Amino acid sequence: MIIDCHGHYTTAPKELDHFRARQLAGMVNPALHPRLEDLLITDEMLRESVERAQLKFQRERGTDLTIFSPKAAGMQHHYGDERVSAQWARVCNDLIHRLTQLYPANFAGACQLPQLPGVSPSNCIPELERCVNELGFVGVNVNPDPSGGWWKDAPLTDRHWYPLYEKLVELDVPMMVHVSSSCNACFHATGAHYINADTTAVMQLIQGDLFRDFPTLRVIIPHGGGAVPYHFGRYRGLALNLKRPSLEAHLFSNVFFDTCVYDQRGIDLLTEVIPHDNLLFASEMVGAVKGLDPNTGHYFDDTRRYVDGARVLDEASRKKIYESNALKVFPRLKAVLARREAFLEAQA
Ligand SMILES: [Zn+2]
Repeated sequence: MIIDCHGHYTTAPKELDHFRARQLAGMVNPALHPRLEDLLITDEMLRESVERAQLKFQRERGTDLTIFSPKAAGMQHHYGDERVSAQWARVCNDLIHRLTQLYPANFAGACQLPQLPGVSPSNCIPELERCVNELGFVGVNVNPDPSGGWWKDAPLTDRHWYPLYEKLVELDVPMMVHVSSSCNACFHATGAHYINADTTAVMQLIQGDLFRDFPTLRVIIPHGGGAVPYHFGRYRGLALNLKRPSLEAHLFSNVFFDTCVYDQRGIDLLTEVIPHDNLLFASEMVGAVKGLDPNTGHYFDDTRRYVDGARVLDEASRKKIYESNALKVFPRLKAVLARREAFLEAQA
């Protein structure tokens, strides 16, 4: 089985954008603020939005289940207030939930949180609990920089974040460190801000002692771990200089990297440097890099091709990356897979 642990709903009907526009207009003129029931998206529209995109690629590439979350660039935690952010997270998460109900064989849910710059993430706990306990979600995206490129909040290892981590540990749900769009013109969102954030998060974890306080917390660093695997010697050396434990001892019981790296040579490097117990298959398909690679004639985000082609992986390692690591990192997948199997049996 192939579990893709990183996919976003990038193809939502335009009605969702209109709802968002009304929300933001409502910040200026409260009369324009929409109600939840103003968002009219039918099941048919949901089906249409994924049939020729994510589902088509799952079929073509032979992947099975995608852990699916709202569009990352759309989280936009830098806009709005508590009311707007809470409503926006709810609306986006509800669409993911409906897709997991329409396609129980194809999608498992991961949620967006109603984060805001400068606000304790404890405000996110009700939505996190709703998504996990009521909607059956298995993961969550946590934005380390809700200011959208200005890094105004404390590092991820700061006690500012602890209420959220306590809840994640209690719910046994892992977090993916995932920024949203950039409102700093210096940082292109997916080309710079995302990769910066992945790298920054790992360095924060090296400097801090988060897993001493939360030994069972699991953190996924997406986009292949940013610059970390390529510069692994730098981070190993910095850990030594800073008198921190080795990366293996300090991070590798809790930190996992995904395979959203869009080049065979990058996946070769990732799989040579990072232990195979710490890698999760992912594609982030129909995301930042949607096109065909003119050098290969294949989609850049068809990452299964690179993992299948990685020179250092044997079948046992591939099985870890495709399936068994995900089941360890996302324990709530077990229930999703049981439901999936029942659904597929009923279809047969
Ligand atoms: Zn993503």
